[in-house]
Amino acid sequence: MAALRWLERENPAFPHEIVGQVQEDDGAAVHAIVSQAAAAQPGWADRSLEDRIRLFTVAVEAATVDTPDLPRLLSQEMGKLIGDCAGELRFACALAVDMARRAPRLLADQPRGDGPGRRVVRRRPLGVIAAIVPWNAPIVLAMTKIAPALLCGNAIVVKPSPLSPLALTAFIRAIARHLPDAVLHVINGGAETGAALLDAEGIAKVAFTGGTTVGGHVLSQAARRFIPCIMELGGNDPLVILDDFEPTPEAMEAIIWGSFLNAGQVCMAAKRVLVPAPLHDRFVEAYVEIARGLFRLGDPVDPATTMGPVVNAAARDRMIGLAKDAARDGGTVIELMRAGSTLPDVGHFVPPRLVTGLDPGAALVCEEQFGPIVPITSYRDEAEMLRLANDGNLALSASVWTTDPERGWAMAGRIRSGLALVNAHNRAGFSFDLPFGGIGQSGFGREYGDEGLLEYTAIQSMHIPSQTGGAAAYPVSSSETPG
Ligand code: NAD
Repeated sequence: MAALRWLERENPAFPHEIVGQVQEDDGAAVHAIVSQAAAAQPGWADRSLEDRIRLFTVAVEAATVDTPDLPRLLSQEMGKLIGDCAGELRFACALAVDMARRAPRLLADQPRGDGPGRRVVRRRPLGVIAAIVPWNAPIVLAMTKIAPALLCGNAIVVKPSPLSPLALTAFIRAIARHLPDAVLHVINGGAETGAALLDAEGIAKVAFTGGTTVGGHVLSQAARRFIPCIMELGGNDPLVILDDFEPTPEAMEAIIWGSFLNAGQVCMAAKRVLVPAPLHDRFVEAYVEIARGLFRLGDPVDPATTMGPVVNAAARDRMIGLAKDAARDGGTVIELMRAGSTLPDVGHFVPPRLVTGLDPGAALVCEEQFGPIVPITSYRDEAEMLRLANDGNLALSASVWTTDPERGWAMAGRIRSGLALVNAHNRAGFSFDLPFGGIGQSGFGREYGDEGLLEYTAIQSMHIPSQTGGAAAYPVSSSETPG
C-alpha cells in the first residue's frame, strides 16, 4: 500500500508556522472517488427538485454552524483579512440560497410552440462535475460550482488549491455530512491531483477557476475526451477615468480598494488605471494622499490590519521583480505605505505601490500582476483610451468613472469585457443577478445568475409529433409536421 502523503500549509504572515495539513490524493484515490460519485449521482438526480433544494440548503446552513472557526482558518492559511474571510463565507451561503431560489423556475420543463403535437425543452443533469478552484477566494469559488451542480442533480468533486486547502476541505466535508453519501467530495493535491481528476472516467464537465496558463493545460486535457468546460481565468482589468471625473475622497477610496482588496489578489481587481492626460497629476496626487491613510500591513487575523501578506514567497518575489522592472523601464514607483510605517519583520509582505509613466507595452501594464502594485497610464483622447482599454486578450471586468452615469454607461459598453461597471469596481460591482465570466483568454462559460445555474444542465429536446409516418418530409414550421 502506498504511503500517505500530507500537504502542509504555512501561514503567509508567519511562514515558520504550519496552520494545518490535509491528506494528498493520488491518482488511484481520485479515480475511486469519481467512480463513487458516478454511482451516487443517478439516485441524487432521481430525487425531486424540492428534496434536493431542501437537503442542500439545510446542509449548507448546518455546515456553517459546524465550522465556527472557518474565517480564522481561511485567514491564517491564505493571508486574507479575517473580516473579509467571514464576508466570503456569508456571501457563499447567500449564493447557495440564491441558486436554490432560481432552480424551480429554470429547471421546469419548457413547452415550445402552440400547434398540434408536444414539444418540450428539458434540463437534465450532466453527471459528475470536476471542479478545480484557485486559492484566493476558495469558499465562494467552490460554491459557484457546488450549488448549481448539486441543485441540478449532478454529483461534484472539488479540488482546492494547495495554497488554501484547509478551510475549503473542512467546509465541504461539513456540507457533505448532511447530504446523501458520495454526491459531494473534496480531493487534495496540486497539478498532479488536478490532472488525475480530469483523467478520471465519468467526468461530464469541468468547472475551472484559476490562471490563464493553467487553464490552457486543463482545457487541452479535457478536449482530448471532448469534456466541456467552464473556464474562469485571469484578468487585466482596466479602470478608466473620464475627463469629467471629480477625485473626491470617497471616489478615490473606492478606486484604491478596487485595486488593493486582498493585497491586489482578486481576479476582477482593477489591474491598471487609465487617466486623461490633463487630469493625470491631480489624480495621482489625490490617489497617493488617500492611499497613504488606508494601508496598515500586518497579521490578517488582527482586526486593525487593512492589508495582509501575499500568498507565498514566490508571489512576493514576483511583485518585487515587477517593481524593479517598472523602474528600469522608466516608470516612477510610488510607495503607498503610510509615512513612518514599516513592513512586518516576518511574512510575505509587499508594500503597496503605484507606478506612473510606463509604456503600454511594459509587463506591469499588459500582464496580470495579481498583487499590490498598480500602473497608472495617461491617454490623450477617447480613441486612444478605447484602444488601450481593449488592448490584449484578457477581458474579465472593466469600469468607467465619471460624474455623468449615462456617459459612463455608453462608454462602458464599448469596452470589451465580461462585466462592465460604472463608478464601481471589484466586489462593489457584483450582483447575484448578473452572470460573471470572461471574454478571450479570461475564459468562457458563466457563474452566478440564471446562466450560472444552467451551465450544469444538458438540454434534452422532446417531441411527440402530431402525426407519425412520412419521415422523409421536412416540417415547414415550428408547430407543423406535415405527413
Ligand atoms: P492556478 O491556475 O495556479 O491554480 C488554479 C487551480 O488549478 C489550483 O487548484 C491548482 O492546483 C490547479 N492546477 C494547477 N495545475 C493544474 C493542472 N495541470 N491540471 C489541473 N489542475 C491544475 O491559479 P491560482 O494561483 O490558484 O489563482 C490565481 C489565478 O486565478 C489568477 O490568474 C486569477 O485571476 C484567477 N482567478 C480567476 C477568477 C475568475 O472568476 N475568473 C477568480 C479567482 C481567481
